[in-house]
Amino acid sequence: MTMPVIEVEGLKKHFPIRKGLLRRLVGQVHAVDGVSFSIAEGETLGLVGESGCGKSTVARTVMRLIEPTAGSIRLGGTDVTRLSKLAMRPFRRQMQMVFQDPFSSLNPRMTAGAIVREPLLVHGVASGREADERTAEIFQQVGLRAAQMGNFPHQFSGGQRQRVSIARALALNPRLIVADEPVSALDVSIQAQVINLLMDLQREHRLSYLFIAHDLAVVEHISHRVAVMYVGRIVEYADKRELFLRPQHPYTQALLAAVPVPNPRLKRARKLLEGDVPSPVRPPPGCAFHTRCPYVMPRCKTETPVLQEGSPGHLAACHLLDG
Ligand code: SF4
Repeated sequence: MTMPVIEVEGLKKHFPIRKGLLRRLVGQVHAVDGVSFSIAEGETLGLVGESGCGKSTVARTVMRLIEPTAGSIRLGGTDVTRLSKLAMRPFRRQMQMVFQDPFSSLNPRMTAGAIVREPLLVHGVASGREADERTAEIFQQVGLRAAQMGNFPHQFSGGQRQRVSIARALALNPRLIVADEPVSALDVSIQAQVINLLMDLQREHRLSYLFIAHDLAVVEHISHRVAVMYVGRIVEYADKRELFLRPQHPYTQALLAAVPVPNPRLKRARKLLEGDVPSPVRPPPGCAFHTRCPYVMPRCKTETPVLQEGSPGHLAACHLLDG
């Protein structure tokens, strides 16, 4: 068995809440509260959940854009959790990020070619003509023309801008790409094109993806395994097919029920998720989903369920699984 490209163990990110003149600590936002997963070479892990569940904080913490409060991040077997900026530099090349909104993540004053070329120069991978040739090659890989290297971000369509973002992420030949809602801002027809591009690039380069989305239909298409997050924790984790066929956690079942289906009668027959995601400042005690769960029992309000394996490789955190 090959070593995972990334292993995340017990990752926590709490943000302090300070108030007053003396910036007194008055609380903590439990954005990520003990998340563990691994991703193999050439594998896509889909991370899903409603807005505010902590998915993007996982992405930024894994990328070491923000410091974790606790837990560990291992990249190709090396613990990079506490590495300094300098020591982190060679590992930065191995993991790159694609953001939701390419318009705000691309410098409007730089041409697309300069944006994609920049990481090559910064990391000393190539310069001059070699960097230009490599940039043109990457443009072609992502379905853009080398002639478009001189265009500015505003001269591209939304889908093309996301292709430029993907090209920038590919420039350093990374092993892992963390894609945070990469297609949410795009039209549905363009979403499919970008997803297919990511899948083609994965096959070609054996890339690993941490693919973050709130749209289960998108996650189902691209992922090999899926982790479902709720209020800073993973509540279900399984092979994609298994999760979509036999969801075990009531939250996953509710999310799946909300996915549009072609048969309107079928949709009405299924129970939709009600209420809002609780605040991560004061998560509900016990199971955080108990305020919305149709199967809530007295113990759910006091005892926090832990992830347990219902069938091989299929984990869920729910007291209903206790037998
Ligand atoms: Fe629902 Fe209880 Fe399971 Fe939480 S532990 S999902 S409240 S049944």
